[in-house]
Amino acid sequence: MTIYGNAKVPVCLLPEAFAAACEGEKLHFDPAARCDIAVSGDFITAVAPPDQLEGARIDLEGRMVFPAFVDVHTHIDKTCAWNRAPSFSCNFEEAGQRFQSDKAVWNEEDLYRRGHFSLKSAWAHGTAAMRTHLDGSEQVSDLVFSVYNRLKAEWAGRITLQAVALTGIDFFTAPEGRGRAEKLVDMGADFLGVMPQMNPHLDRDLDRLMALASDLGVGLDLHVDENNDPSSECLRRIAQAVLRNEFPHPVFCGHCSSLALQEPARQSETLNLVKSAGIKIVSLPMCNLFLQDRKVQESSIHGPTTGTPLWRGITLFHEMLDLGIPVACASDNVRDSYFAYGDYDMFEVYVQSIRIGQLEPYLERTPQLVTATPAAYMGLRDYGTIEPRKKAELVVFPARSFNELLSRPYAPRQLISGESFRQPEIPDFSELD
Ligand SMILES: [Zn+2]
Repeated sequence: MTIYGNAKVPVCLLPEAFAAACEGEKLHFDPAARCDIAVSGDFITAVAPPDQLEGARIDLEGRMVFPAFVDVHTHIDKTCAWNRAPSFSCNFEEAGQRFQSDKAVWNEEDLYRRGHFSLKSAWAHGTAAMRTHLDGSEQVSDLVFSVYNRLKAEWAGRITLQAVALTGIDFFTAPEGRGRAEKLVDMGADFLGVMPQMNPHLDRDLDRLMALASDLGVGLDLHVDENNDPSSECLRRIAQAVLRNEFPHPVFCGHCSSLALQEPARQSETLNLVKSAGIKIVSLPMCNLFLQDRKVQESSIHGPTTGTPLWRGITLFHEMLDLGIPVACASDNVRDSYFAYGDYDMFEVYVQSIRIGQLEPYLERTPQLVTATPAAYMGLRDYGTIEPRKKAELVVFPARSFNELLSRPYAPRQLISGESFRQPEIPDFSELD
């Protein structure tokens, strides 16, 4: 057994007994408590106030410790293609065009190299589980899922992977939809994913999609209202469809950006529907900040713009947290035409989410956005908090408080795997050449 002594851990990720250690101003500014973490083999066996546990100690000297991150919304098939498919205008429309043309050059070796690089990056930054959307179209799904299954097997024991088969909603609601969905589930899809759009058939299509998913026994993971059009109310329609159909499986809604631009009374109604329907929200703040309110008009290197972005593109983060609607934050696209940057670093996602969303009033709950909540979304019992019976995959930061942690986000961190430290081996970009 090894004791990692004198760790400082966010109280929301510790056993409940530690909650009393943080009250008043401390809860507002530095909601973390000192503790010793006992580890035997791969698992945490005890967490106690400092100096109460007997055994060989490694003193962490009051440094901040998080459990391994869980990244619940990624795209490891599209990823790391920016160099060959950059978007000049960096807006949503051109991103889609660039992605479609890049897809034409996908092959097994290329998909494997980019996917493997993504997992190496994530693992080096302290992530232990990821859910990825994968292209479910007939054009590439055999290839994409074959590479995914190879990566899933190779990374088992380090990164737990889940997959969403992502297509347009018509793909599943067509007469051939059932066969297509069955094939994707057989190939390894854990969820069906679509990007619904407002149209006169939306309710009918959602009913068909939910009937299909019910029959197959899978949940839905959807890209929802990723735009700045207040009349885009797919989130509301999805919530109504869940309630109307009594859909029994989990429903995850990513983005939900346009909700933030609607009338307050309408927002409030939709949020109540979302809560009643038990929908789980995934916010992708870095991708939203990049794509939303982008005003470049032409696809040229120095195309004219119509001005500076005026909104941040994120969903109603505060209102959801106030209502107790579950929210997780995730990477989304990384170095592809939808988002030029990123490195599967969930700590970057965490810090950026706090800054973009002005989440300081919710600081004590923020660590859950990238750990406990997405772990629950993925049904992972071993991850998400620092408690007995959880995996001892831990991230140690050179910071003694939340303020130090959030002020120096690029400082090198240490990684604990079981009873030893492991080297964070961030892959060289040349591995993608
Ligand atoms: Zn996405």
